[in-house]
Order: sequence, then structure tokens, then C-alpha cells
Amino acid sequence: MRLFVALSPPPEALAEVAGAVGARPERWPDLRWTGSETWHITMAFLGEVPEKALPELETRLGRAAGRHAPMTLRFEGAGAFPSARRARVVWLGLAGGGTAISRLAASLAAGGRRAGAAGAEGKPFHPHLTLARARPRDGLDARPLVEELKDFGGAPWRADAVHLMRSHLGPKTRYEALESWPLTGGG
Ligand code: ATP
Ligand code: MG
Repeated sequence: MRLFVALSPPPEALAEVAGAVGARPERWPDLRWTGSETWHITMAFLGEVPEKALPELETRLGRAAGRHAPMTLRFEGAGAFPSARRARVVWLGLAGGGTAISRLAASLAAGGRRAGAAGAEGKPFHPHLTLARARPRDGLDARPLVEELKDFGGAPWRADAVHLMRSHLGPKTRYEALESWPLTGGG
């Protein structure tokens, strides 16, 4: 099964994001916009994991979560991968996590690797919320869109748990939350 670990921002934070996105999906129909019901922040992409590895994986992810404290985050700024000029993914950025968010991500990825999940090794961690993806593989010039979104700043929210998510890829990709663990570590 295809798995990743994510933060789930609270509904109030997502409502603000929806407000910021506004009617832009209609103005940018060449992008595939993600539905607000799928919005998440990927902390660790685990990739294809055999079902028999799940118990071990869950133990290790729970242990990692238990070593990290809750964080106060806010959505801030926008950008695109690999660049706004040839965007394949348009995203909103996250602020407020300092190094804690990267340390949590590294811990979860390490737990995943120990349980045998290959994941996305070597990729630098850049926390973000994916708003839209380009259809063509060579990307799309999203500079005006990124320019409009880049001044967005949301209210702070508390990230106090991580979630193990399963992707069901398809014409309309769907995610299923399999398990959650609270962040119960000290600061
Ligand atoms: P689709 O592939 O149908 O567009 P998706 O990308 O959301 O949907 P997955 O490919 O299963 O579904 O990815 C799940 C999450 O992990 C998403 O947030 C995605 O951006 C992220 N992700 C996927 N592949 C990687 C990767 N190689 N490195 C880092 N994050 C990844
Ligand atoms: Mg994908």
C-alpha cells in the first residue's frame, strides 16, 4: 500500500486557505486543483509498503511522535516546484515550526526506513500544502498565481498529532487515515 505521514491542519486553518484560494481554480483551469477535503502537510513520504510491515511501521512512527512536542504553525507565503515559471506543483508555505518541524519529519522518515519503507530518500524536506498540480509534465508558467498568493498569512494553529495516511491513486486520488499519534514529547 502507498503510505505517507501527514499533519492535518484544523478546519479553521483550512477555511482560511480556502478563502485565500477563492475563485482562482476557475481562472486557472489548466491546473488540477486539490480539493480542500484532501488538504494535508506531508511530513514523510513512505511510498509502497507491504502490509506485513505495518505493525512495525506503526510502532516506529508512534515512538517518533512521542519524542516530539506539539508545534504552533501558520500558513504563510506561496511558491511552486520546481519553479513558478515551470510549475508542476503550486503550494502554500508553512511558518512557525522553526527547526522542530524538520526534526519531526526526519524522525518519522527514519522510523519509516527502519520499518523498511524506502520513501523519498535524499529529498530535502520543504513543508507545504499542495494547492494545485500542472497537467503537462513540463510544467506551466504560474508566476502570476504565485505572485497573488505569496502575501497570504494565516492565523496560527496547533499541530499536536501526526497521521499515517494511505493513498488511493486514481482519477480523483483519495486518502485514508489509518492511524494517528499525538506529539507528546517535551520541547
Ligand atoms: P497524485 O499522485 O494522484 O497526484 P498525490 O501525489 O497526492 O496524488 P501520492 O503520490 O500518494 O498522492 O502522495 C502522497 C503525498 O506525498 C502527497 O502530499 C505528495 O505530494 C507527497 N509525495 C509524493 N511523492 C513524494 C516524493 N517522492 N517525495 C516527497 N513527497 C512526496
Ligand atoms: Mg503523487
